Amino acid sequence: MDCLFCKIIAGEIPSTRVYEDEDCILIKDINPQAKIHYLLIPKGHFEDIGDIAHKDPDLLSRCLSKITALADSLGLEGGYRLVTNKGKNGCQSVKHIHIHVLGGEKLSEKMS
Ligand code: AMP
Ligand code: ZN
Repeated sequence: MDCLFCKIIAGEIPSTRVYEDEDCILIKDINPQAKIHYLLIPKGHFEDIGDIAHKDPDLLSRCLSKITALADSLGLEGGYRLVTNKGKNGCQSVKHIHIHVLGGEKLSEKMS
């Protein structure tokens, strides 16, 4: 499958991994929008939040729990923002579910 994040998960395209387990990887975003900007990427290929919520809600739940458990060790003790883009209006550019994890500084109060 021609999917950028599946290739990153397989190690075919390099990335900076800060965490990995059987469910997901956490990598640094190549174009950070905050001092800290990670992408949490479930290892299974699901197109977007709707796809994973429908087909494997337990995996989605575990991934979200991991972010909360890892936050302090990732430099996010001051808080963070989770974002997932879906579809054209959400400006999703990579069609493999990923959750943006933003923090390391006070973020804009505006969400867009
Ligand atoms: P989205 O627009 O929500 O689909 O987010 C895709 C994200 O993937 C963007 O924030 C990109 O900067 C990021 N990205 C694209 N290619 C890479 C890569 N090779 N390594 C890390 N992050 C990437
Ligand atoms: Zn994929």
